[in-house]
Amino acid sequence: MEDPTSDLGEDVPPDEAATCEWCGDSLATAPERRVRTWITDGAVQRVECCDADCLRAWRDSRENSAEDRS
Ligand SMILES: [Zn+2]
Repeated sequence: MEDPTSDLGEDVPPDEAATCEWCGDSLATAPERRVRTWITDGAVQRVECCDADCLRAWRDSRENSAEDRS
């Protein structure tokens, strides 16, 4: 009688389960959330952060890897 698939996750839509790329906080409770998209090798890349500070920190860490200059 038990259905192991019916218990978890049904009350959390996929978008609401997203987390900040930088600090990992839930974006469902982040009013200042930021979304950044760009194209790499013809594919759309997307990152979401809970606020501008996290987005900046994430970008800084990414630029230090020196692989994405425009
Ligand atoms: Zn964050």
